[in-house]
Amino acid sequence: MIAGVDIGGTKIALGLIDDNGAVVTRTEIPVQMERGPANARDRILQILHKQVLETGAGLTGIGIACTGPVDPITGELGDVNTLPGWQGWNPVRELADAFGVTAALENDADAAALGEARWGAGQGKRSLISITVGTGIGAGIILNGDVYRGANHAHPEIGHHIVEPDGPLCTCGASGCWESLASGPALEQWYAEQNPDDDRRTGKEICMLARAGHASAQRAVERLAKYLGLGLSNVVSILMPEVIALSGSVMQSADLLLDRIHAIVRGKCRLVPVENCEIAVSSLGANAGLIGAAQVWHNRFDR
Ligand SMILES: [Zn+2]
Repeated sequence: MIAGVDIGGTKIALGLIDDNGAVVTRTEIPVQMERGPANARDRILQILHKQVLETGAGLTGIGIACTGPVDPITGELGDVNTLPGWQGWNPVRELADAFGVTAALENDADAAALGEARWGAGQGKRSLISITVGTGIGAGIILNGDVYRGANHAHPEIGHHIVEPDGPLCTCGASGCWESLASGPALEQWYAEQNPDDDRRTGKEICMLARAGHASAQRAVERLAKYLGLGLSNVVSILMPEVIALSGSVMQSADLLLDRIHAIVRGKCRLVPVENCEIAVSSLGANAGLIGAAQVWHNRFDR
């Protein structure tokens, strides 16, 4: 049994995952960033100890996924946007020492991609890109079964490739990044600007309005699908992977988006065999983060 720990911007998911990628136990706790990493570590340890005791499972290792930047080799957190003051914390060392097992860490997008490659849409494939569309857009690239890393182990930030040079200001400081046009907040912001007299709507509500025939909500969803399709066209033309697996909160409305996305990618990618690139929604569902975290350990220590 592997313990998976998925540290996000606002919550930490943790649980036990068996050797077939099935989630046996699962708990979510708030990050409580201001209380610092030592407090988070203590809460994680307490819950994992309890889960191990209750299931009577033998713990083989711990896999950790965390919002980047992180150093997957040393196990240290970098200057994570949503975790100010946590830089330099090493959850790999601290959790491994506490349980007397090995542990490994990856950027959460890379962890999700590893889970997808082993237990999801990428089984039996050599190249896969996992793209999570939610508050932001994160992507992990798997080539020949392993995570693609850039210089000095850097994680590529596909969500920040520029789609519209004069587009909206992005959280990263640039303008017109894919994330600033095709994420959940991008959908909500555009709809709010078009409908100043309406209440502030969530992305889920806008999609429900679109399904009910609300014209402005439908335009907002069409715009979202257009920018998702344009960004994916760039990804396909540059890397031409066998599979692109889409996940994240925005993909809960995939029924409104996928046909348009496929049409745009087919129309834009003229010089690659686009029919050989499968673009589909992740089959791992809400547990993708936790399953990915467990696969981080398998990928490092059990290959
Ligand atoms: Zn950006």
